[in-house]
Amino acid sequence: MSPLPPAGVVIPAGGAGSRFGHAQPKQFLELAGLPILVWTCRAFFAVEAIRTVAVAAPADYLHHTIDLLQAHLPAHHLDRLHITAGGATRQDSVYAGLVQLPPEIELVLVHDAARPLVDPATILHCLEEAARFGAVIAAVPVKDTLKRVDHDGTIMVTVDRSHLWQAQTPQAARRQLLEHAFAEAKRTGFVGTDEASLLEAVGIPVRVVAGSECNGKITLPEDLRMAAALAAREKSMKIGHGFDAHRLVSGRPLILGGVSIKYELGLEGHSDADVVAHALTDALLGALGAGDIGRHFPDTDPQYKGIDSLLLLSRVYGLATQQGFRLGNADITIVCQRPKLAPYLAAMSNNLARCCASDPTAVNIKATTTEKMGYTGRGEGIAAHAVVLLRSSHGSA
Ligand code: MG
Repeated sequence: MSPLPPAGVVIPAGGAGSRFGHAQPKQFLELAGLPILVWTCRAFFAVEAIRTVAVAAPADYLHHTIDLLQAHLPAHHLDRLHITAGGATRQDSVYAGLVQLPPEIELVLVHDAARPLVDPATILHCLEEAARFGAVIAAVPVKDTLKRVDHDGTIMVTVDRSHLWQAQTPQAARRQLLEHAFAEAKRTGFVGTDEASLLEAVGIPVRVVAGSECNGKITLPEDLRMAAALAAREKSMKIGHGFDAHRLVSGRPLILGGVSIKYELGLEGHSDADVVAHALTDALLGALGAGDIGRHFPDTDPQYKGIDSLLLLSRVYGLATQQGFRLGNADITIVCQRPKLAPYLAAMSNNLARCCASDPTAVNIKATTTEKMGYTGRGEGIAAHAVVLLRSSHGSA
């Protein structure tokens, strides 16, 4: 498949949410510990093809929205984020977001702020199909039997549902198609309930792609309870594994788990070569699905030369907390023939736990030899394995 053209998403978040009976708009209500709008934005930042996330906030809540998103989104996402004041209607808000998208954006998604559990697969599917066909929306087939009902509650007719789908978002289109549809709607005064209806009104064919029942819109308090149960189930735990090995050489200090150890040799590396901290850092990145230590801190970058690896570990743990996770526990095995490490293990555990804002009991460290077999057994190097379990900071687990 050819690579996707540059894509952006517009999130109209202008609704007052009157059906909710809350004083503040529903996109600011908490879902499993985070505002609904933060969940929604994060879902799109998780998709690499999306270059820009444009949020159209209620004008009265513009500053609140900016503060909220800046507080909850990682710093490296903020330069992909545009926040603007929305309009009186959904259509006005989408337009306000659309004009914020940088000129290089060719594919545009529009997504309801109140559908926070949209999954990356649905987003990608919409992008791919919009790139092929021009315009698509996520939708699900109607499952229940439908009745047309009279004013007094009497059923008039059972509606054939075989061609009926429930429209969701994302709704995705090539940018010039969407801009054309908006311009025409403006000219004719047409007001649609979604972007597809604007496209349909100017004769642009729009296809449906299979959405997900989990991508429901939070409209009523019971929708929020249902979404919270789904969010907690999906986000409660993540597991990661890390492995690292460095060569022992003369003229270098030996630093393991942030502890300086008296020995005639030390580990070779661009940083302080702390193989224990590196294994744990890689395990955390693994759990977060965020690549590896070399991608985040390249050994070609002079700023990491000789750096204290505990700093790198703390930074990566910061990513975990930004994503709503905390350390459950870590288990580390150091493979080392000499020197004897037992006297240092407690201090290592203290150091590593501190970087993870955790109690030392959550970071278990063991040391083993390989009975003189292999490169560690011959004393050529030291290796370390780590596994971690991250738990959701706001889920039930
Ligand atoms: Mg390393």
